[in-house]
Amino acid sequence: MRPKLVVGNWKMNGSRAANATLLSGIVAGLGGAKAKAACAVCAPAPYLAQCQELLAGTPVAWGAQDVSVHASGAYTGEVAAAMLADFACRYVIVGHSERRAYHGEGNELVARKAKAALDAGLTPIVCVGETLAQREANQTAAVVGEQLGTVLETLSPEEVTKIVVAYEPVWAIGTGKTATPAMAQEVHAQLRAQLKVRVGKEAAQQLHILYGGSMKPDNAAELMAQPDIDGGLIGGASLKAAEFLAIINAA
Ligand code: PEP
Repeated sequence: MRPKLVVGNWKMNGSRAANATLLSGIVAGLGGAKAKAACAVCAPAPYLAQCQELLAGTPVAWGAQDVSVHASGAYTGEVAAAMLADFACRYVIVGHSERRAYHGEGNELVARKAKAALDAGLTPIVCVGETLAQREANQTAAVVGEQLGTVLETLSPEEVTKIVVAYEPVWAIGTGKTATPAMAQEVHAQLRAQLKVRVGKEAAQQLHILYGGSMKPDNAAELMAQPDIDGGLIGGASLKAAEFLAIINAA
């Protein structure tokens, strides 16, 4: 069975003081006991050093929310994958819907970011998801299929076995609206079938497909009980230690 994975996406939130309180609360809450799920937090880039300082040696991994496709050079404001690796990041989110919507990131750029992350030894968390208009027009399967498809074409099958996929319906992110477990499971099963074509049945069974979109302590257990939902990518609820811990414990 795949162990569950719960990842916090802090987005552009936090301060040194607030992060210290949040991270010490999470670590204390996990209590050194074997957590029910693997967990990680994806912090704004300036706080990755603080994550490394406070989380090294704990069960909580850390990562970033975006990465450049370039290795180094004249790309003002960008952060290279090797720089994230320098701060011992394990994960980096690529293709979050907020980056797609506000920064014009398309499927090809997202796929190149996933490749840059893998080349630096990081695990990309590749986000896919449809807007409300696309769902209402019955385009969900086509939209997420194309988003994942571009990544699958860009990476070798061996590289694909090292990614994490996150299904995040855009209409559920930060809105309090959650996909029903059945709705989410349907898309997750489709994504796993697509992965299977690229990497084979056994490898596809090992891959993590997370659900994201208003996952909270009160709906997490039901969502993660679905056969193809292997954990969560958590925005708002990852900013409170008690809520994040409750989601980990619901896994
Ligand atoms: C997210 O930003 O990835 C997310 C799922 O946000 P929220 O949990 O707040 O909907």
